[in-house]
Amino acid sequence: MKLYICRTRLATAAAAQAATEAAAAVANPTGMELDLPVDPNEPTYCFCNQVSYGEMVACDNADCKIEWFHFGCVGLKEQPKGKWYCSDCAALKNRRKGR
Ligand SMILES: [Zn+2]
Ligand SMILES: [Zn+2]
Repeated sequence: MKLYICRTRLATAAAAQAATEAAAAVANPTGMELDLPVDPNEPTYCFCNQVSYGEMVACDNADCKIEWFHFGCVGLKEQPKGKWYCSDCAALKNRRKGR
């Protein structure tokens, strides 16, 4: 029970901090993105169309349009064993196999 209460407080503090940061971003007069300096020429990946960050996983389909994905965006927590296909390619393969 104590642990539960403690976690609730942590979550509330994090939410309060996020709200403060959002307010700071609104107040930012330059209108620039503060958290991630993104090079406009940097290639983007993944379903989310963002630059690479953290751990990335490659789709094993050679024809994959995107090829690289963020772990978080595809629901991975660690490097998958063996072959891995993104949901687009997995759907294509399943369709082909089904007919
Ligand atoms: Zn992503
Ligand atoms: Zn793919």
